[in-house]
Amino acid sequence: MKTVSSLLDEHWYERYKKISKLNIRSSIYDVTDRCNLRCKGCFFFSSDEHKAASEEKDITKWDAFVENEMARGVNLAILIGGEPTLCLDRIEAFYKRLPTFCATNGLIKVPRERFPDMMVGISLWGDAEDEVFLRGKDTFTISSANYAGDPYTYYLYTISPKQIGKIERNIKKVADVGLKVHMQLLSNDEGFDGFSWQPEQLVAIRAEMDDMLDKYPKTVISSKYYHEIITTGQMLGRPFGWNECPSVTDTLDKREPRPKRLTNFIRWASDLKTMHRCCTSETRDCSTCKDGAAHMSWVMVNKRDHIRTTKDLQNWIEVYEMFAKLYQFIPW
Ligand code: SF4
Ligand code: SF4
Repeated sequence: MKTVSSLLDEHWYERYKKISKLNIRSSIYDVTDRCNLRCKGCFFFSSDEHKAASEEKDITKWDAFVENEMARGVNLAILIGGEPTLCLDRIEAFYKRLPTFCATNGLIKVPRERFPDMMVGISLWGDAEDEVFLRGKDTFTISSANYAGDPYTYYLYTISPKQIGKIERNIKKVADVGLKVHMQLLSNDEGFDGFSWQPEQLVAIRAEMDDMLDKYPKTVISSKYYHEIITTGQMLGRPFGWNECPSVTDTLDKREPRPKRLTNFIRWASDLKTMHRCCTSETRDCSTCKDGAAHMSWVMVNKRDHIRTTKDLQNWIEVYEMFAKLYQFIPW
């Protein structure tokens, strides 16, 4: 029988042992319904999730809610929005209790004296021209001034088909301000012309992402297997989609048979009562979903299937390490 130890040499086994201890249990929280931008294709607004519930304003309710979440076993809070930095006291309700990651557009600087080691992921949608088109603003200029050199911050670069052939200049800009970058692909939720992926574009962008990892290994947090999974939508011959997605809210998950999934995962709306279907949007078509975290989690929850060949298991380890680095469970 194939076992982890029979497939790995000492070096890889050590790496495996470090991550196998982590037992990460995340959930996702909409901190607010508001944002200081309105990006074209934002899954939150395009699916009207900002109207699903009105936000809880009483901070004592947030404190009690976070305590309950911890009792449910959550050990990683992923804060999204809208724009979480509009509500620092709500962020603090999480941060003072458990490892917290804050997704932001970076226009507002999180005060580091209040949140010294909170992980911050800044969204980036392309170069200045593309950002102005998609987001109405060149956010990089502002966010990079706010966060340059910050050891607990990285860019979450959402790559669209318009970025093919151009991603290096963005990776280089991030490297030049002393930050890290993680890549994912745009899901064109609002159907903008030219922003839906064609098969040959996915082949091209995979090669480009691989090349960036080779050229900027200290800046890019990624793995080639992740690039393969996210561009092909296939893992070990199985297609990604609703039947396989691991990031579906636990209590709403009525799938039969139940796929491998994140333990106790819930995405909560900002009223602290309503739950959303999954880590992205209710109205998104799962067959075109390119969400990076959902694909990463898909690999992570399917460890057993990767205990097949040495290469498969190493691929699995690299994806797990990448996720753990992005949330600082292990160092960059
Ligand atoms: S910054 Fe984020 S939450 Fe705000 S509109 Fe853009 S994608 Fe949506
Ligand atoms: S939209 Fe994406 S993240 Fe949501 S259930 Fe479908 S595949 Fe999963």
